[in-house]
Amino acid sequence: MADDCLFCSVVAGEVPATRLREDDDTLVFADIDPQAPVHVLVIPKRHSRDIAELAADAADSAAVLRAVAAYVRDQGLTDYRVVFNTGAGVGQTVFHVHAHVLAGRPMTWPPG
Ligand code: 5GP
Ligand code: ZN
Repeated sequence: MADDCLFCSVVAGEVPATRLREDDDTLVFADIDPQAPVHVLVIPKRHSRDIAELAADAADSAAVLRAVAAYVRDQGLTDYRVVFNTGAGVGQTVFHVHAHVLAGRPMTWPPG
């Protein structure tokens, strides 16, 4: 667990969250400020700050993608967007890597 990391605190149960799916390595929970009818965050339980750090851990990289796939499969979602904001300049505000999974409304491309 990293010091002063909000999502490490969510993993530890110190910050309440709507936990939707969980295994030894990953957690799926509802975003507190949803931007679509479905908006969940998929994180590795072990702290990585961004996808570059996550990529250095092959097991956690695969675990996060498997958790995304399992969540959308269980929800019956066929059309969804997966976003890793990386760096403050494009909107990353929590520096514990997380995949946003968004669905349930039309989406434009390119994103804003
Ligand atoms: P980022 O901007 O880093 O890509 O995404 C951070 C996300 O975390 C945002 O969508 C924001 O709404 C969400 N978030 C921030 N604080 C909390 C919290 O305390 N609980 C939950 N469930 N989501 C949070
Ligand atoms: Zn963390």
